[in-house]
Amino acid sequence: MHENRGPLSLRQMNRLRILETLYRNPSTSRTELARSTGLSRGTVSALVDELGRAGVVEERDAPEDDESRRGSGRPPVLLSLVPDAAYAVGLDFGHDHIRVAVSDLAGESLFDDWSPARVDHAPTESLDLARELVRAALRSAGVATDRVLGVGMGIAAPIDRATGRLVANGILPGWRGIEPAAEMEGRLGIHVELENDANVGALGEKIFGAARGVDELVYVLLSAGIGAGIILGGRPYQGVSGVAGEIGHVLADPSGLICRCGNRGCLETVASPVAVAALLERSIGEPVSVQRLLELVAEGHRGATRAVADAGEAVGRVVAMVVNTFNPELVVVGGELAGAGAVLLDPIRSAIERHSVAPAAAAARVTAGTLGGSAEVLGAAGLILAQSPHALARRVER
Ligand SMILES: [Zn+2]
Repeated sequence: MHENRGPLSLRQMNRLRILETLYRNPSTSRTELARSTGLSRGTVSALVDELGRAGVVEERDAPEDDESRRGSGRPPVLLSLVPDAAYAVGLDFGHDHIRVAVSDLAGESLFDDWSPARVDHAPTESLDLARELVRAALRSAGVATDRVLGVGMGIAAPIDRATGRLVANGILPGWRGIEPAAEMEGRLGIHVELENDANVGALGEKIFGAARGVDELVYVLLSAGIGAGIILGGRPYQGVSGVAGEIGHVLADPSGLICRCGNRGCLETVASPVAVAALLERSIGEPVSVQRLLELVAEGHRGATRAVADAGEAVGRVVAMVVNTFNPELVVVGGELAGAGAVLLDPIRSAIERHSVAPAAAAARVTAGTLGGSAEVLGAAGLILAQSPHALARRVER
């Protein structure tokens, strides 16, 4: 659906205030709504009735044990957004997979699926595959296209905020000159928002996972690529041109391997799950997949444990700089390698303690993400959900 993107009318602005309040605080009474929006009771009631008729807001009586019942006779009526009034789609383009999820307005994931894909080298094939995955996901979730507010799309490359293109200096080699959001919009006929994969991972863990309620956080994605998503004051921080958080391409070993970005010894060449698995192949004498690497760690295999712990140390040294720079409350570790648990996390913690200033290290709790491989796709849907009050304010007409 193509929304009118001009300025909002006063009525739409007031509607937006109601919708934003209900998006952030489901189950709010009319009295609380008037207080938090600064609108009169009469205006709130008129707007809520209108939103109710449009099927966007629903009311129900406060439950028996609700605080708002205390002291008054009549049970207060609580208002929320109708979860199935609209939907968001998340898409996650990794280096070697595409994942899709359909979420309702309440952030409940109705369906998710994924497929291996040669994303790095075959952009057209990958975009076509994503179209099929989205169509199939909407069919399976029973959601018509015109109910979808938008598609959030995470991709494993920094995004130039001015042009909407990838900063593809070797990080996604096949994607030079391609505008992924426009390509995807053309295929789906749905509005698409593009964001870097580590940034949507951070958003996913903040909205749905380990970082709920945390406003200063760093999400470290240890996947086929390595990156960090930084959230400051509750908002994703992308930097002036969209490259903030590219810790995968910080020097970790001056005599290391040549990286896909063209530099030598980047963190990614030392600590990506693929690089760590490859380290073991010679000693074991057979190909080692990332899955196999994690199994070996779980079995307590000495070489696999050593390799993952050393990767953790290298990641921790780089993250220590980020901790010194931004003083986060939480460092969430995601991506496949996070599946190694304490074998990975403990060396990250010690390296942060050793290499960042004591008060910053003490403030930064380090934990694994709780969403696993779904953090990025859910965060991508979350990008759209965060804009849903705006989209709904425009859609509802008298
Ligand atoms: Zn690099």
